[in-house]
Amino acid sequence: MPMPIPLRTRQALLGPILLAALALAGCDRDTPDTETLNFFAFGTIVDITLYPAGAYDLEALESELQAELEILHTSWHAWEPGSLGRTNELLALQAEFSAPPSVLPLIERGKEMEALSDGLFNPALGKLVAAWGFHQDEPEGPPPDAETLEALLEDPPSMRDIERNGVRLRGQHADLQLDFGGLAKGLAVERMLDLLQNQGVEAAIFNAGGDLMTLGRPADRAWQVAIRHPQGGILGSIELDAVEALFSSGDYERGYEWEGEHIHHVIDPRTGRPSEGVHGATVLHSDPALADAAATTLMIAGPEEWPHYARKMGIEAALVVLDDRIEATPAMAERVRMEDDQPALEERGLP
Ligand code: AMP
Ligand code: MG
Repeated sequence: MPMPIPLRTRQALLGPILLAALALAGCDRDTPDTETLNFFAFGTIVDITLYPAGAYDLEALESELQAELEILHTSWHAWEPGSLGRTNELLALQAEFSAPPSVLPLIERGKEMEALSDGLFNPALGKLVAAWGFHQDEPEGPPPDAETLEALLEDPPSMRDIERNGVRLRGQHADLQLDFGGLAKGLAVERMLDLLQNQGVEAAIFNAGGDLMTLGRPADRAWQVAIRHPQGGILGSIELDAVEALFSSGDYERGYEWEGEHIHHVIDPRTGRPSEGVHGATVLHSDPALADAAATTLMIAGPEEWPHYARKMGIEAALVVLDDRIEATPAMAERVRMEDDQPALEERGLP
């Protein structure tokens, strides 16, 4: 993914950057009461909409946010050189070392998410993700052959293979390679909103390619945002209150075609192959890192087991797009307004 760059447009956010770009749709005003900063980061457009308009020094906020995005990019990138790359090199040596402080929160949350998801979410499987051609800006085939997959699945690494003693780490598995692609955006969002809050921002919504988090809310309304359909277009909309994160994972996001099959970037550790059956998963929670990891996990869990894993991870509001229907937990169904051209949500209670 390229370095984050500011797009240098500050607009009233009405453009075709769909997804949550409907953030303002709910207000009938001549003059918008929010203003938006745009960046390119995490391989996507990031919009940060601030409320109220005119209250902040945009120039100063933009450079603060930009600097933070650049730090996160170099610290957490899965295949470009940086702190995580260095950590991976040192883990492979299987000797004790002092970890760069920036990667410790990722490792800590990664361990937690792996345990909560019974290993469906496993950031130690970077080698497997790389074998499928996803550790490059433009993913491409060929997919790994049967022999390579078998070798990678025989004794797969786990986050438990990282021994941690304060800042000292030691890898205990030769194939351990960290990839926090399913979690880092959640942690980054939290950082960015903390930064805004420390700068005295009253309310804001962060939108990184449809993954969203709010800080506060405008005085007279909730944030209205759209949920993208994995096959394109908009599936529905939802109103977000203060401190709510809405994260989605989908088989449409990163991928390539190989021999008539769409190969996407969420890998099921049980099969070693791209997950099947759930085309998209959307999770609502106040903790963005949990929402991020859980959306990825529900994709992997599949059409039968997703409610089990939602409950296990402490997620009450989730929605999944299956081959022939869209299912949601009761808490999510209550909040989502489906588009007119979409089927009604089918409610699925948590076990
Ligand atoms: P997301 O878009 O949040 O669903 O994250 C997808 C990314 O998570 C992929 O691009 C990989 O970097 C990473 N990933 C893929 N499979 C897994 C898995 N089973 N556990 C943890 N991370 C994964
Ligand atoms: Mg995720």
